[in-house]
Amino acid sequence: MIDLKEKIDNTNTTKLKQSYMDACSDKKFYNYVQTIPTTEDVLMKYTSLLQESYLENDNCKKCKSLTDCKNKIEGYILTPEVREKSINFSYNCCSKKMKQDEEEKYLKNVDYFDIPKEIRKASFKDLYSDDTSRVPVMKYIKDFVKNYPKDDKIKGLYLHGSFGSGKTYIIAALLNDMAKKNIKSACLYYPEFLRDLKASFKTDYEEKFRYIKKVPLLLLDDIGAENVSNFSRDEILGPILQYRMEENLPTFFTSNLTLDELEKNLAITSSGIDKLKAKRIIERIKQLTVSIELVSKNRRS
Ligand code: ADP
Ligand code: MG
Repeated sequence: MIDLKEKIDNTNTTKLKQSYMDACSDKKFYNYVQTIPTTEDVLMKYTSLLQESYLENDNCKKCKSLTDCKNKIEGYILTPEVREKSINFSYNCCSKKMKQDEEEKYLKNVDYFDIPKEIRKASFKDLYSDDTSRVPVMKYIKDFVKNYPKDDKIKGLYLHGSFGSGKTYIIAALLNDMAKKNIKSACLYYPEFLRDLKASFKTDYEEKFRYIKKVPLLLLDDIGAENVSNFSRDEILGPILQYRMEENLPTFFTSNLTLDELEKNLAITSSGIDKLKAKRIIERIKQLTVSIELVSKNRRS
């Protein structure tokens, strides 16, 4: 008498074998599974995963660039790894993705906070070269690249000008360039950073505050667009700038406002007008930076 369980097992094995044999009628698939160092009894348990893995490998052979990747997870290939009597499948990085990761490793040296994606990839090589109004700022950048960190009194930049003229882009390109030399920086959209910092008062406020004070290169992007309060001006911005001034840490700013306009902006809070406190901040910014205006057409599409 044949036991029922044994009968079911036999039927299942036959089915597995059949679908495996069907798949092997594709010569290329057959050749592919022959390269996997295990027996047919093991292989036939995984026909559909093997087919998927075969297709992904085949996609890779035809692939011209990572952006055209046809695999389930971009840059990864479903790969079989033979265990004793089984096969384990995992997603392994393809060679193109590995190369890209290696090339982009430097990006980890810049902490971007609330900065658009296209700006995070800013680079000197993609910088528009059709614009003479950028000559002064480009001269500053060239000198900075040449002299930092040798010159330990080097000044940062207060780059002001109209909306969309490319202020953030240019400084992000500088920070990315520095990142390739393993120099760390933070690029913060200041209004949002301030909101985030205040919201973290009960959690990691101190840690964030300390980090921003000490990061080797800092960009406070769009200063003047934030909601000014006595606290944010006198207890956050003031001490950050004071520390960076004392430690000679290059600090960059972008703004739609000139320094005079920023001074007026910083003077007014919901608690009243305090010209002296605003003046003190501006004095620190003047100590920390050279001020350049960027006049250019709006680059935003
Ligand atoms: P701003 O900070 O002055 O308001 P952005 O730096 O955000 O202006 O630039 C506006 C847009 O133009 C962005 O999308 C940016 O990617 C693009 N852009 C600006 N300047 C350049 C440049 N020099 N080369 C390439 N793209 C640029
Ligand atoms: Mg900007």
